[in-house]
Amino acid sequence: MTIPPKQIVIAGGGTAGWIAAAALARKMGPLVNIRLVESSTIGTIGVGEATIPPLRTFHKLLQIDEQAFMRATAATFKLGIRFENWGRIGEQYIHSFGMTGQQSWLAEFVHFYLSAKARGLEGDYGDYCFELEAARQHKFATSTQSNIQYAYHLDAGNYVAFLKRFCSNLGVTHCDGVISQVLQHDNGDIKALRLASGELIEGDFFIDCTGFKGLLIEETLHTGYEDWSHWLLCDSACAVQTTSTEPVAPFTRSAAHHAGWQWEIPLQHRTGNGNVYSSAFMDDNEASEQLMQNVKGEAITTPRTLRFKTGRRNKAWHRNCLALGLASGFVEPLESTSIHLVIMGITRFMQLFPHGGNYQALTDEYNQQTQLELERIRDFIILHYHVTQRDDSPFWEHCKNMTVPDSLQTRIALFKEQAHAFQKQNELFRVDSWAQVMLGQGVTPDYHHPAAAMLSDAQLNQSMQQQRQRVLQAVAQLPAHEDFIRRYCATPQKA
Ligand code: FAD
Repeated sequence: MTIPPKQIVIAGGGTAGWIAAAALARKMGPLVNIRLVESSTIGTIGVGEATIPPLRTFHKLLQIDEQAFMRATAATFKLGIRFENWGRIGEQYIHSFGMTGQQSWLAEFVHFYLSAKARGLEGDYGDYCFELEAARQHKFATSTQSNIQYAYHLDAGNYVAFLKRFCSNLGVTHCDGVISQVLQHDNGDIKALRLASGELIEGDFFIDCTGFKGLLIEETLHTGYEDWSHWLLCDSACAVQTTSTEPVAPFTRSAAHHAGWQWEIPLQHRTGNGNVYSSAFMDDNEASEQLMQNVKGEAITTPRTLRFKTGRRNKAWHRNCLALGLASGFVEPLESTSIHLVIMGITRFMQLFPHGGNYQALTDEYNQQTQLELERIRDFIILHYHVTQRDDSPFWEHCKNMTVPDSLQTRIALFKEQAHAFQKQNELFRVDSWAQVMLGQGVTPDYHHPAAAMLSDAQLNQSMQQQRQRVLQAVAQLPAHEDFIRRYCATPQKA
């Protein structure tokens, strides 16, 4: 059966717009005609350079070649995030993408680790995670045999250019112009976008990727915004790119300071840096000065201040409009989840793709799933701020003492009481993620599952030693991250 293709108009050509175009064009080609409108005068946000492992699954789905992608975006590999000064000043831990320790059906590894600790074990939870140890030693390799869990650091501008080239071979029509008006049908649905040039772009369905302002979803359809800034106080960032000064690390650095935190994202050709802060506790000048004092290389761009409001659009899909990327909301960059949420959003939309004229139930389902996904990520991010031992500034006092969502309070209580963490159905962050952050920031469980008590001291000790040795031996086989990238990204020789 042949059905006429839906006319899809994507407003905005940042990472969100081009990811949406690439996914729709590659996976639903005959069912859609895609037109993307962007404005080179307005430009893109230019940040968003740290990712998480599901990006690899997305690239595989689109049949994107990893080496070509890495060369085009000057990407490096990412095994996790190193959090410095979050629990206490001077302390650090890594939240890695890997599994920690041997799995058991009865109780997670964390319970065995805590039992061993109580019996005098030295070292920390991260010692039993291959990816985490590789990150510590700045080592990395992929191979068809290894199941190493990783993501990338990428140059945001180059990634947009890469996706644009990818889409040009898939029939996506592209136009550069400023959208000056959004026209609606009598029933309120969006009818067309008028450009400043006078050109009219009509469509059946519109995807709003216009960034924070949400030109269609908010400025036209007024769907409203649920503000989370009482839990996530940071509302500003100052970003600067610098030269690289040392071998590239296979992790993002996140160093907390008295009113927020600073990121360091190593790429092949430069480093991305940013100071994320609460404007109620730090002014823009101080933020910019502090950033420039802390960066390691020479600045190659002028520091830029960005504002954001954490929260989510009440309805990411409303009428014939879907919002993706910053237009749909923003949690905050701490765990690099925004690009992932764009991918989840467009994937979910393709799975619920409307066929008939009335699709209210599909819309409701999409919005409900999206809300749940975002709230779980939100809770995980709030956790980093809330479970701190820091008391050196009003910002941290506030974070430590604030009332957090009940859903998070329950999770903290479960971990505190008996070291339980759960990955709920379809939840992004795993048991290990929750455990790494809680233990890393000084949450000490009162008890753990008694399963480990069935092992004698000698048995438990032997098991822990064997697991540690396996991690160390596996990491010893890996080359330095930098050497691996150099070989992996070398331009292929012509035959
Ligand atoms: P934008 O990049 O703002 O693109 C908007 C597009 O809309 C542009 O093409 C613009 O030209 C177009 N447009 C707007 N108005 C008009 C108009 N009137 N007419 C025509 N075109 C128009 N995410 C991560 O996953 N990892 C990170 O490490 C990370 N770090 C971040 C750090 C900070 C400080 C911030 C603020 C965000 C970060 N993000 C991160 C989020 C990430 O940057 C975004 O999710 C991603 O870049 C997608 O942005 P976007 O495409 O939605 O918006």
